[in-house]
Amino acid sequence: MLPSHLECSRDAEHRARADEVATVCPHDGGPWLVRYAAEALPRENVAARPWTMWRYREMVPVGDDEEPVSLGEGATPLMDLRRLARELRVERLYVKDESQNPTLSFKARGMSVAVTVAKRLGATSLAAPSAGNAGGALAAYGARAGLPVRVYVPRDTPPLLIREMRGYGAEPILVDGLIDDAGRLAAEYARESGAFNVATFREPYRVEGKKTMAYELVEQLGGVPGTIVYPTGGGTGLVAMWKAFGELQRIGWIGDERPAMIAVQAEGCAPIVEAFARGEASATRIANASTLMWGLRVPGGIGDRLSLRAVRESRGTALAVGDEAAEAAARDLRRREGIDATVEGGATLAALRILSARGAALAEPVVLFNTGSSLKYAQCF
Ligand SMILES: *Cc1c(COP(=O)(O)O)cnc(C)c1O
Repeated sequence: MLPSHLECSRDAEHRARADEVATVCPHDGGPWLVRYAAEALPRENVAARPWTMWRYREMVPVGDDEEPVSLGEGATPLMDLRRLARELRVERLYVKDESQNPTLSFKARGMSVAVTVAKRLGATSLAAPSAGNAGGALAAYGARAGLPVRVYVPRDTPPLLIREMRGYGAEPILVDGLIDDAGRLAAEYARESGAFNVATFREPYRVEGKKTMAYELVEQLGGVPGTIVYPTGGGTGLVAMWKAFGELQRIGWIGDERPAMIAVQAEGCAPIVEAFARGEASATRIANASTLMWGLRVPGGIGDRLSLRAVRESRGTALAVGDEAAEAAARDLRRREGIDATVEGGATLAALRILSARGAALAEPVVLFNTGSSLKYAQCF
């Protein structure tokens, strides 16, 4: 359903129309949150629809007769991890396997929705900064939509990810610096060329794609998980799922129960973890950010307040893991469970091991997120 309006995440009094191209709130720079008119959505209605992420159509921004720019994204399996559950003394442990998306990562969900809306609102070309997977996804969805794509990526991004972008016909621009440096260049290019910038939280709709992960979880588990362990870079997925649980309560699928949201970051780049530990509402940029978990190499961004809010409101926590522990855990997911875990996905299992060793009592079921495929970084490990 087309959204009713956009609401500023910093001040709900600030609103904007949803039928015009939107970036961030002009009053305070806050990311927009998309709002819908739907008050109730019977679960039975949805249950009869095909198992794709577009089945929640009252709650995703697509018109009744509109065909989304789709490559078969979302609707990923929730796999139980029996062997690892025994080791960790958790009864019900799952991984939401997002490696099974087009372009092999969950970035596909967000880009599918963002490109669908950008195209409807008249975009003629697309741009974004990327740590790797977002650029590959944008390149593919841009190709699907017939729109040219330019991606700004740090020069040391794994070569396969850059080749993937080129493979879909996009133009990668290699940047000396990190993703926020790439972000400044992408914004400048968008201003000068008129390309639409789909940078994380700089437009409202990638969140709308990623939030479907929470809708699917509630359907797959028959309710709300106890704990969600999420590898957090810019925080889109964390914030999106937290938004989704609010929506799911409003449409009558769940009550006021919520999962504890656990944000996992890399030891070499953990702005959310540090701000959480200091009790601060926003994060401080990390100098010299360094990690082989490329998707988590986000030294600072405008999603920080929303990510911290989701962790705190959910009574979750935030912790950092090292690259080696994360890769060892990813290897365990691959070898002991057959899951094509990327190192960021492994980080969630590594974090669970740390929490379990500390004797933390985690509400069940516990859901880990494997956000991408090991194949893309195969040269790095
Ligand atoms: C982008 C990315 C992340 C971080 O996602 P956010 O929702 O932006 O925090 C995690 N893992 C992988 C593999 C990624 O590509």
